Amino acid sequence: MVKNDLRSEQDQRKQAIVIGAGIAGLLAARVLSEHYGRVLIVERDVFPSHFEVRAGTPQAFHVHRILPRGKMILEHLFPGYRQELLAEGAYEVQHKLATLVKNSQMLQLHPPEQDSSCSRSALEWEIRQRVQMLPRVEFLTNQEVVGLHFSPEKASISGVKLRQRGQVDQITTVRSDLVIDASGRTSKLKQWLQEMGYTLPDEEYVRAHIGYSTRYYKASPELVDQVGTILVDEKADERIPGICVLPIENHTLCVTVYALDGNYPSIDVDEFEQTLKHPHFLSTNIAINLQNAEPLTPPRGYRVPQCIRYHYEQMSSWPAGILPLGDALCHFDPIYGQGMTVAAIEAETLGTALKEQANRPEADFELAVLKKMQDAIAPAWWLSAISDMRGPGVIYEGPGKPQGVKLLHQYIDSYYGYALEHPVAEAQSITSPLPTIAKFFLMNGLILPPAAIFNAPTLALLLEAEAAFGGQQLLHQRVQEYGISPAEILDQVVPQFLFTFVAPAGSNEG
Ligand SMILES: Cc1cc2nc3c(=O)[nH]c(=O)nc-3n(C[C@H](O)[C@H](O)[C@H](O)COP(=O)(O)OP(=O)(O)OC[C@H]3O[C@@H](n4cnc5c(N)ncnc54)[C@H](O)[C@@H]3O)c2cc1C
Repeated sequence: MVKNDLRSEQDQRKQAIVIGAGIAGLLAARVLSEHYGRVLIVERDVFPSHFEVRAGTPQAFHVHRILPRGKMILEHLFPGYRQELLAEGAYEVQHKLATLVKNSQMLQLHPPEQDSSCSRSALEWEIRQRVQMLPRVEFLTNQEVVGLHFSPEKASISGVKLRQRGQVDQITTVRSDLVIDASGRTSKLKQWLQEMGYTLPDEEYVRAHIGYSTRYYKASPELVDQVGTILVDEKADERIPGICVLPIENHTLCVTVYALDGNYPSIDVDEFEQTLKHPHFLSTNIAINLQNAEPLTPPRGYRVPQCIRYHYEQMSSWPAGILPLGDALCHFDPIYGQGMTVAAIEAETLGTALKEQANRPEADFELAVLKKMQDAIAPAWWLSAISDMRGPGVIYEGPGKPQGVKLLHQYIDSYYGYALEHPVAEAQSITSPLPTIAKFFLMNGLILPPAAIFNAPTLALLLEAEAAFGGQQLLHQRVQEYGISPAEILDQVVPQFLFTFVAPAGSNEG
């Protein structure tokens, strides 16, 4: 329900328009509904009656995981959504098997907390049902936004131009006080701004040439439990793909093979099945188990030639009345499962900014929000970029190119290896320098900052462990190459992130 103290503000801010009813658009509408008298979501698709992949979100065919930080925000915005998904047939992961293979080391877990696992279509459907119930939100489907309505002096945006799909000539203008561009990877925002004479800063790119191939299988409940969730990292330097298996609603297994660097997985049925028999996946028994499952679809592919981060916040003048969010602002290598979580963080950032604006109005509100969104994007972008740069052919373009990636790769491998070999450290507090798998997951889940993993005491510990082990001392060699102290190296290669993580007060990790 809308709080009383926001009423007067709503009278002033009459209508917000959201372009696109994907995850980002739905989450934006949810927070806008607390501040605007009317929120109109314009979507070019017609919604399916149940969990189906729609034309506007073809990526929904492929495995979609949501990170811990994203789940926290979703639970806050839509309390009980996981229970509702379970009631709709989603898979209950509590105490079920999760197998992770990284650097050929296998880890098997049984997550203690209650949680659901489902397709992206089911998650979107659930969130859409909840947004549809909000009194101030309306959907306009089968309508495509084809442009922005600029003020005469082009300094602000006061609405969108849209047309019914298939009706080429009939364009309608709908006025609004704020437009949120949540139209995803196909966003035309850059083009629209350029057409109005705006000069845009360069984007950053990770040209990673990522490929997915996904197939669905129906299995008995027992078989689904036996397989569980599987994540096997790819070995990019050896051109061996990775795999992600997700149990989803209705006793179905979603199996995705992925790889970067142009090593596109096959969508041929026989070749797909053959890939699952690769020795890299042997320890998971996936090929053997799937012999007892019924394929529901042929494999379908998806390619992401590049990941893009727009830097609209660097523009000398930004038009009032428009904000991009979700994939329209930054899209990542999907395998790290960051997109929906970052969209959730951005929606949360927008909600906080709208509340602050109500109390202390700022002149350049949109530009200030854009800067905060960049702070929110930065850690996820850095983590996925350094990981993608393991691919020998992956190219990073842009001023924010991560430094010291070879050292960081070795650091991560040493950290993970140490944590696996010293499970006793798992009981340590997150402020301890001891490497733990839990901290590693929480960093990748955007709960803990990279500094929780990459810090001088932990590096010293890893170097000591390497020396005691008497092995190849690869991390030591990387550190030696710099000729400066470990603390200085970390200052150079690990950026200072301004984003607020969920670290406990008083720790050195916030
Ligand atoms: C293969 C693949 C796998 C992925 N896996 C994961 C994962 O595991 N975890 C994760 O968090 N993220 C994953 N992602 C990313 C994730 O899908 C997105 O980051 C996330 O859903 C946010 O997307 P969005 O809402 O910004 O855009 P989208 O989901 O693309 O939605 C955009 C919406 O806008 C509509 N639209 C577009 N143009 C117009 C227009 N002009 N007018 C009206 N409507 C319009 C579209 O129809 C669509 O409904 C994956 C992406 C890919 C490609």
